[in-house]
Amino acid sequence: MKVLKFGGTSVGTPQRMKHIGALLTKSDEEKIVVLSAVSGTTNSLVEIIQHFKDGNRELALEKSGALRSSYMTFIGELLENEDRRGRATEIVTQHFGEIDRLIRQPYLPQIEKVIVVQGEMISTNLFYLHLEEAGISSKLIMAADFIYLNENHEPDLTIISNKLKNILSQYREFSLFITQGFICRNVNGGIDNLDRGGSDYSATLIGSALKVEEIQIWTDIDGMHNNDPRVVDKTKPISDLSFEEAGELAYFGAKILHPNCIIPAQQEDVPVRIKNTMNPEAYGTLITSNQSPEAVKAIAAKDGITAIKIKSTRMINAYGFLRRVFEIFEKYKTPVDMITTSEIAVSLTIDNPAFLDDIVDELKGYAKVEVDENQTIICIVGDLVAEHEGVGKEIFHALENVPIRMISYGGSRNNISLLVDSRFKKKSLQYLNKRLFDL
Ligand code: ASP
Ligand code: MG
Repeated sequence: MKVLKFGGTSVGTPQRMKHIGALLTKSDEEKIVVLSAVSGTTNSLVEIIQHFKDGNRELALEKSGALRSSYMTFIGELLENEDRRGRATEIVTQHFGEIDRLIRQPYLPQIEKVIVVQGEMISTNLFYLHLEEAGISSKLIMAADFIYLNENHEPDLTIISNKLKNILSQYREFSLFITQGFICRNVNGGIDNLDRGGSDYSATLIGSALKVEEIQIWTDIDGMHNNDPRVVDKTKPISDLSFEEAGELAYFGAKILHPNCIIPAQQEDVPVRIKNTMNPEAYGTLITSNQSPEAVKAIAAKDGITAIKIKSTRMINAYGFLRRVFEIFEKYKTPVDMITTSEIAVSLTIDNPAFLDDIVDELKGYAKVEVDENQTIICIVGDLVAEHEGVGKEIFHALENVPIRMISYGGSRNNISLLVDSRFKKKSLQYLNKRLFDL
């Protein structure tokens, strides 16, 4: 069995949905297909929710009406059979009816969660109807029936595996299943989601829970690229990555994968392949437990980083200082990305500044604190063990004209991270591309 996830642009138009239908018939192995919402839909739903939260109900309803009519056009182009078009219209009407009903109620966080996942409910239903029209037999199963979160708000692979196996065993006559990405259920039994971009995570959770042969993430690019194609002109797809490398890249900026999605695949050792819907023949990127030997494989950048320097004379020869520092970050549930230390100071970075003021206030009880906003982490990924001589030299040579705020090396064998002011991001990525990949 394989799991195939198609992202928003891959299901973004009726033609593309049909194209995916055709792709699925190319082999008759068992498949579970995970779909995102049609591209733009989740953003529109987030906007609708914002108007609703702001008390701007009329505007929320107006936007919901506009989104609904875009689906009516979609249905007209996707389906030919009148009866099936009628069923599709009914489904879309029902989902938007629910959205509008919720918008008319007083705001509750749970309402927000129900609204934001409607895009996936609609895309999977429409795709199912298309398959039916194309004569392809499939079974639509509901992600909220088997993707469960635990009390720490993390997916529980054991529950997922048990529930999903149980569902599949009821439909043995089917070899093609369709389900929603992004959607899950929390410990309170409420509808929840795996965060923006979470459909990748849904796919790897499903594939890992069932220990499938391969998890395929179908997107609109020929795999993970060795640098950010939006910033640097010459980039190329990377054919093979280890789980560690892909995890670092996804976490540090490569927008193509959800940062958590590698975790379950790595845990269950299930290969993940990134494929291009528009160019299915291309190899893509294969992510496995194998570490191939190239020293530098890719460069990624993560913006919106805040650097915090914590300086204390009492740190000299002291123990317990770092513990106190980290306890403050823990208290405010703020993850730390990069960290570097010297004898009297420690610098670290966060990407979520929601509690920055509180954190800084508390740190000031122990130390002098300096904050730099608008920073970018540049992450260089590969097999960067010390035996690969010269990598450091090349990196610093490439960046000789860029002020570097922090350097982190040796934390893992796969990553060198540098922190620069975001103004220098483009320049840094270009220089590194030229020097490290000769592109
Ligand atoms: N539709 C959700 C989003 O746009 C989940 C996903 O597409 O992965 O974030
Ligand atoms: Mg995505």
